[in-house]
Amino acid sequence: MLSLIGSTGSVGRQALEVLDHLGQRPVALVAGSNAKELEKQCRKYLPKVAVLAEEKAAKDLRTRLADTNIEVNGGATAVCEAAAHPDADTTVIAAIGMVGLDPTLAAIGAVKRLALANKESLVYAGELVMNRISASDTNLLPIDSELSAIHQCIDLASSDDIGKITLTASGGPFYGRSLESMHGVTVEEALRHPTWCMGTKITIDSATLLNKGFEIFETIHYFDVPAEKVSVVVHRESIVHSIVEFSYGATFFQLAVADMKLPIQYALTYPERSLSSVDQLDLATIGNLTFGKPDLDAFPCLRLAMEAAKLGGYAGTVLATAGEVAVERFLEGSIAFTDIAKCVEAALERTPGGNYTSLDEIYALDKEIRAFVNELSI
Ligand code: MG
Repeated sequence: MLSLIGSTGSVGRQALEVLDHLGQRPVALVAGSNAKELEKQCRKYLPKVAVLAEEKAAKDLRTRLADTNIEVNGGATAVCEAAAHPDADTTVIAAIGMVGLDPTLAAIGAVKRLALANKESLVYAGELVMNRISASDTNLLPIDSELSAIHQCIDLASSDDIGKITLTASGGPFYGRSLESMHGVTVEEALRHPTWCMGTKITIDSATLLNKGFEIFETIHYFDVPAEKVSVVVHRESIVHSIVEFSYGATFFQLAVADMKLPIQYALTYPERSLSSVDQLDLATIGNLTFGKPDLDAFPCLRLAMEAAKLGGYAGTVLATAGEVAVERFLEGSIAFTDIAKCVEAALERTPGGNYTSLDEIYALDKEIRAFVNELSI
């Protein structure tokens, strides 16, 4: 049975479609505050437990589901309890942002399989998450098209066999533009992603290419490779989802249509590669696949993330926190699109030396950076 954290979001809804296809149903459904949508999902899937992180919304959900036997809980502790539900052997973390970290940590050691769509937890506290994974019986699998692609190429090979990993980037909606020309872009323009349909935060992160920077951190942690072995190539078609060069000389590409249901199903069924509902590729119709260098002057967030990835530790915490607050500020209209990178850069300059040894240190730094970026006048 499966516990799904973030069930009303983009990946969460697609995960439920995959469960339909596999003939499985969830034991726990968890969301942030969308009582109406979670009620709908509960009536269809009849989980044992439904949780909303926001207490007030949970009350509303309890009333809505009063005629059912579903246990309804609210609050951050209930979210973590659902992530480690005793009947769950798999937990999917599809929540976006830093709120994904606590349920991720709760699931480690409690379930056999942790399928992680939340990338911020590996940027924010990657070393800590991976140490806990190593010390547990939980298998970690990525739900991110690029990371899943790398996993599919590498499978049982060891990290010593890997020469280089190249993440493909669509380039986002502002591909080909200069930094200056992007200053006045609107939220609506930034949300118009050319190839992927995703949630708000990740779509803005894809427009700044910060999302690709986050995937560098994910690659380092999932596959135990140094930052120097990870690079990024712009591939507008979003058909090749990543590239692995092995030391023995061969290079593997993973190609598939751009559909998140593929990485979701792979993470839920690995090591099996069972039949999915995803369309097959028609390469003759696609015709050409193109590759080019990312423009680090136009997209400074990617450059900053590459630098932070080489430092690791605290630099990841600062990058993830500053990125999250800066995107919130752009969405509420208090800073311009190009100020997102300025906020991230100013925050990274405050990265402390040394490395964290506990979650408390990460949370303390998060609090400081959050306040700093919120008050930063640009
Ligand atoms: Mg991705």
